[in-house]
Amino acid sequence: MSVLEKLTSADAINLEDKYGAHNYHPLPVVLNRGEGVYVWDVEGKKYYDFLSAYSAVNQGHCHPKIVGAMVEQAQTLTLTSRAFYNDKLGVYEEYITKYFGFDKVLPMNTGAEAVETALKICRKWAYEKKGISENEAQIIVCDGNFHGRTTTIISFSNDENARKNFGPYTAGFIKIAYDDLDALEKAITSSKNIAGFLVEPIQGEAGVYVPSETYLAKAKALCEANNVLFIADEVQTGIARTGSLLAVCGNCTCENQCEKQSSYVSPDILILGKALSGGAYPVSAVLANDEIMNVIKPGQHGSTFGGNPIAAAVAMAAMDVVSEEHLAQNARRLGEIFRSELAQYIATSTIATLVRGKGLLNAIVINDTEDSDTAWNICMKLAENGLLAKPTHGNIIRFAPPLVMNEEQLLDCVSIIINTLKQFEK
Ligand SMILES: *Cc1c(COP(=O)(O)O)cnc(C)c1O
Repeated sequence: MSVLEKLTSADAINLEDKYGAHNYHPLPVVLNRGEGVYVWDVEGKKYYDFLSAYSAVNQGHCHPKIVGAMVEQAQTLTLTSRAFYNDKLGVYEEYITKYFGFDKVLPMNTGAEAVETALKICRKWAYEKKGISENEAQIIVCDGNFHGRTTTIISFSNDENARKNFGPYTAGFIKIAYDDLDALEKAITSSKNIAGFLVEPIQGEAGVYVPSETYLAKAKALCEANNVLFIADEVQTGIARTGSLLAVCGNCTCENQCEKQSSYVSPDILILGKALSGGAYPVSAVLANDEIMNVIKPGQHGSTFGGNPIAAAVAMAAMDVVSEEHLAQNARRLGEIFRSELAQYIATSTIATLVRGKGLLNAIVINDTEDSDTAWNICMKLAENGLLAKPTHGNIIRFAPPLVMNEEQLLDCVSIIINTLKQFEK
């Protein structure tokens, strides 16, 4: 079929089915336009986007400032590779390190690449600074983690779908329960070969599990006491999503440089992706201070596209939008309204049992067995009613709209969600 002909939803779905690998199971909605909190399908139906491309589109679809920066840079210079300098990368590196309060950044493209980069830096640090014997370093990770899809990362996943028949797996990881400080202390003190602790400040893919209030601070203290690097994967939780610039900011509401706030848990290595570009372009980053980042020397790690001029321009615009439009504060305020409205409904509901989350990263738990398709059916009905969301593991529906939403839109969405749930009450 010619790309110039107008596709129906059925055409587009058939093409993907026939010519694309079947590595996803999308809702049968075919989108062709987005603006702010809305997307439209090819038949012209308008939806609220309550997934935001897994929290990549925090700044809203096609934000004019971000698109403007991208177009301007695309017409000027797109890629030099790191074989040469370019006039955008250094400016961006200064911008992002000051924004998040670290000495240095290592730019990559996707979240999984940034996680891989953090793991490599951690191991190298362990051998060259901590003095662990070669090939002996262990990194602690959590049950239910999601850090991406590379061979090393799926090696320490619990998700059978993500792992099965992709072995042999990468060694060097110890898995412990999430939100369990005793387990962490036991693992950290079990051996002198522990190099790092990799953790999501809120487990998003697993179903939006928010750990207990003091977990991150105490975990960081345990790491510090044992000379173990605390590595925060904020690919999904970062960049204002949870009502703070980063989820490790705790309850701090300042717009950047949160390290000055008392509630801030300072990661030794910070991993960002997704909303770092507002969804316009694949941009990820690993941030750390000199004593850690300086273990990486020329030729030891890299990426052809990492740190390209478009990525640099787009990421700066995307971070500008986060501060200029006070997205963290908005996410915090709207998140409180969202949870309180839904909790009120759920109190007498038979189909939903719980709403949880932080800022605008929330989920409801559906009252059915993990293998039932109830959450999927609810999402199909939500789409029919003009709101797009996707089930995540275990009959849980994640709700993560763009952070540029206003209160009126949010209340409209709450009523769509509640009216849809009512259609499923037993
Ligand atoms: C999405 C995600 C990743 C992987 O990012 P990709 O860009 O899909 O490779 C890693 N960690 C977390 C917490 C994520 O949510």
